[in-house]
Amino acid sequence: MEPILLKAEHEKNSRALTTYLNRGGYSALKKALIMNPEDIREEVKKSGLRGRGGAGFPTGVKWGFVPQDSPKPKYLICNADESEPGTFKDRKLIHTDPHMLIEGIIISSYAINAYTAYIYIRGEFYEEAQILEKAIAEAYKKHYLGKNILKTGYDLDVYVHRGAGAYICGEETALMESIEGKRGQPRVKPPFPAVVGLFGCPTVINNVETLACVPHIIERGADWFASIGRPRNTGPKLFCVSGHVNRPGVYELPLGVTYREIIEEHCGGVRDGKKLKGFIPGGSSAPVLPASAIDIKADFDSVAEAGSMFGSGALIVLDETTDMVWLLENLLTFYTHESCGQCTPCREGGHWALEIVRRIRRGYGRPEDLETLERISRFASQGMTLCPLGDAFCGPITGVLKHFRGEFEAAIAKAKPLPKKKLPVLPVRSGRGTFGM
Ligand code: SF4
Repeated sequence: MEPILLKAEHEKNSRALTTYLNRGGYSALKKALIMNPEDIREEVKKSGLRGRGGAGFPTGVKWGFVPQDSPKPKYLICNADESEPGTFKDRKLIHTDPHMLIEGIIISSYAINAYTAYIYIRGEFYEEAQILEKAIAEAYKKHYLGKNILKTGYDLDVYVHRGAGAYICGEETALMESIEGKRGQPRVKPPFPAVVGLFGCPTVINNVETLACVPHIIERGADWFASIGRPRNTGPKLFCVSGHVNRPGVYELPLGVTYREIIEEHCGGVRDGKKLKGFIPGGSSAPVLPASAIDIKADFDSVAEAGSMFGSGALIVLDETTDMVWLLENLLTFYTHESCGQCTPCREGGHWALEIVRRIRRGYGRPEDLETLERISRFASQGMTLCPLGDAFCGPITGVLKHFRGEFEAAIAKAKPLPKKKLPVLPVRSGRGTFGM
């Protein structure tokens, strides 16, 4: 597949407006601004574009939930929080081609009749926030933003809003609380943001990669976009691959490519000639899959059928040396730290699960521990919490216990009686690039 989203990856000065214009940039915007907003919404719906942030909800359908007869202002928010461990594709897009994202934001705002858009970016992405500010200033100067854009009568202002680096602010309602200047905690849903969102007004929140697809759909048509990938899973996708592979990085491939192709062909196989033990297909909250699942297709539906989650398309590869008890402790340490504390199953259940796994890893497991872990993951997932963080910490538990239960049982079988003194906290990070590159 020819590169679409990463076309400018190796281009000199790829971020500059002039470079973007030389590649035909902002021509989709010119086309869109003479279209009816409703026709744009239909075109995006027809393309089959599904949200690239994790949930995979159809973008055009989401836009259709915005009540167009509401007298309230409408907002578009670009979610650039990108805080799921293993996910780094949006950062790459912003670094490579910020104007493509801005063009997508303008077209999408026009499609839902929004006159204000925000880019919510995590605080740690300081450089990326500066890149965006610079690109936005260039776009204002050339009248792609501001009043009467390209003399069409359409006005749009775009603001970059930096968060303080909390994982939970990637959840759309917590993100809106954060923009409103409040503590970034998820809201009760319903009402959903499309109806009661930012400042109580109808709001659409889309991921960076999702919005970057929009100019291409307008430029080349919904049928062209839908011809990439496979039915219900259409378009190009950025896969960020980390962990035990020879060539980690961001790869642009059609949805529906197999994990074998990604790992063996594009990433050069498992590093140091080791065997594959398993992989996490959709960011760290997705249940791990065993090596035998390597031939499944990398798309929303195929991964769900295999019992995991495609999520953001962040693939974490685990070689045969990976200790699954350590892996679970590592992931639970992250998720318990990031719980906002509003819901008991998430706040207490996460820590309880972490304490159990810590104990198992230190050699003090008990026979009933695995059943308790399963009970915790039942009570804290599937809608038992205000936001998906409950599911996020339960996904790793269910995945490892389904496919690598034997490792936990072996550790428990060798267990010693619990000492009277407090157990020491062992490091959960280890030397060379545990999940890193
Ligand atoms: Fe907060 Fe966790 Fe409840 Fe989400 S699930 S609202 S992070 S306590």
